[in-house]
Amino acid sequence: SALLLDGKALAARIQAELTHEVRSLQERFPRPPGLAVLWVGDNPASAAYVGNKNRSGAGVGIDISKGQHLPATLSEAELLAIVDELNADASVDGILVQLPLPEQIDSNRILDRIDPDKDVDGLHPTNLGRLVRGEPGLRSCTPAGVMRLLAEAGIDLAGKTAVVLGRSILVGKPVALMLLEKNATVIMAHSRTRDLAALTRSADVVVAAVGKPGLVDGAMIKPGAVVIDVGINRITDAAGKSRLVGDVDFASVREVASAITPVPGGVGPMTVTMLLANTVQSYRRRVGS
Ligand code: NAD
Repeated sequence: SALLLDGKALAARIQAELTHEVRSLQERFPRPPGLAVLWVGDNPASAAYVGNKNRSGAGVGIDISKGQHLPATLSEAELLAIVDELNADASVDGILVQLPLPEQIDSNRILDRIDPDKDVDGLHPTNLGRLVRGEPGLRSCTPAGVMRLLAEAGIDLAGKTAVVLGRSILVGKPVALMLLEKNATVIMAHSRTRDLAALTRSADVVVAAVGKPGLVDGAMIKPGAVVIDVGINRITDAAGKSRLVGDVDFASVREVASAITPVPGGVGPMTVTMLLANTVQSYRRRVGS
């Protein structure tokens, strides 16, 4: 059965490297890297993500003290003012606004306000534009994590057919561009795609980023293909227990694929790790290292 692409282990290794890097940078520069995570309201999924980002950041030596938990009633103008303050704060290298935001706030207006060089989530139009152009810049964390997993597994993408399921600005679109940059032949599938199975069966690499448990099963996968499962879905299993699953039916796909990411423990831990890597990258740039 398929090789397990262990994102948890890789993330732990990269975080250990980042810890070391931050420590040695501290010998030359007086301040630590700073990451400000802004969380507005009380979305329970966000609580877990924000907690994880702050804990992991602190773990590698990043200063997370400029992060804030803000009330659900916060206005757009108030949030813009906070972003302005963080943009101007020399101790802050990364600003992340946890999505979704309450409905009175237009998330694009907020993302557009973040200094592109502090945009560690890679969602500012300037950074998305740099990605489209193939220029260096801060790249969004989940797609970067997918690419790092593929690279570490030694999977050469040149000339391969890659099918991406999902076209969100957060995952599907940027991951498709990154696969294209590595010379894959990229097909983007989405909710209006006809005969998804025919496309996935032609693919050497499948990246699923949809949010539908079990969408991709073994019968849809070409023998020997590489399958990356970005989906995170909370389900209640047959025994009545709540647990996390991806978009991929792990049991059937692992019998056909040559490599597969588990959920949890695949792309998830890589996402947080790429956020920390982006923060250190931004720090280096700003201190001139
Ligand atoms: P989204 O809801 O913004 O986008 C879902 C996409 O799936 C849409 O583009 C839609 O066109 C497409 N889609 C819907 N039905 C489809 C179908 N039957 N076949 C093919 N495509 C279909 O979601 P998102 O923000 O891109 O997230 C996708 C999934 O990835 C979610 O489960 C989310 O929780 C997860 N996610 C995981 C991480 C991580 O760190 N692992 C990060 C971000 C998102």
